Amino acid sequence: MKFGLIGEKLSHSYSPLIHDLFFKITGINGEYKLFEIERKDIGRFLQNARKEGFTGLNVTIPYKTDVIPYLDELSQEAEKINAVNTISFNDRVCGYNTDYFGLDYTFKKHSVGVNGKKVLVTGSGGAAKAVVSYLVDNKAKEIYIASRDNVKAGDKFPEAKAVSYSDIKEYCPFDIIINTTPVGMHPNPGLSPLTKEQIRGAFFLFDLIYNPPVTKLIEIAGSLGIPHTNGLYMLTAQAVKAQEIWNRKEYGIEMVDRIISGMDINLMKENFR
Ligand code: NAP
Repeated sequence: MKFGLIGEKLSHSYSPLIHDLFFKITGINGEYKLFEIERKDIGRFLQNARKEGFTGLNVTIPYKTDVIPYLDELSQEAEKINAVNTISFNDRVCGYNTDYFGLDYTFKKHSVGVNGKKVLVTGSGGAAKAVVSYLVDNKAKEIYIASRDNVKAGDKFPEAKAVSYSDIKEYCPFDIIINTTPVGMHPNPGLSPLTKEQIRGAFFLFDLIYNPPVTKLIEIAGSLGIPHTNGLYMLTAQAVKAQEIWNRKEYGIEMVDRIISGMDINLMKENFR
């Protein structure tokens, strides 16, 4: 079975490693390749992929919305988020957003429910769209978006209250904090989008960044004794959900755990920066 990931710059991607571990565990005879393509080639690439017998593709930055016009159908969550990270080729070409399910698996893994909670989300980009959609669907009580441009973020997220970073202190403390900015990500570790004072009092912090595994933000959460997680579980879970869609079979949280326990984190750090 043929699978792959399309995006602009992919040399840092952990996805082949995750899917190869999945093939090893399940015994599925699959191959998962990276395809760096230009925006103008998306339509042609998808047409050829279908002809060449691909079962499915993942899509990453910056094409998660650009692929939509080339698809026959969108799943409910992809339509709401207006972004697709998984495509399946059957009689029809369907788009899904498995980041949404990666979030769900991560919260469940950590026994954290967002229902009735006051949540701060940093950043207003693509991942924030999936996060806010998840928070609304799961009945978070109050959603705050911290943005460098809170007017623009307010227009983009009418279901949330958009605040500037300097105003966050007025709304502290939050129950749950979710970082969707790339601040602190390789190659710029050591930076944090939030200060110690801004996260004090939270009972769970989720940083979507997975490289480095311990970001400055996670380090601060640790120093305050706040339970936390990085983005590796979400990344692995969205890949498992994609395989569930492509193979029409449920593998569940157990498969995410098995893949993560099979990863050689040191090897990943060296080879997938
Ligand atoms: P994106 O669309 O570029 O959005 C990132 C947002 O972060 C921007 O819209 C911006 O919001 C804010 N931002 C960007 N640079 C910033 C800076 N220097 N200082 C403060 N804020 C900044 O990217 P994305 O697709 O949402 O991804 C964001 C992060 O999530 C990346 O680190 C990515 O690797 C991670 N991610 C992880 C997973 C996973 O499975 N673990 C899945 C998806 C994404 P404002 O303009 O409103 O400030």
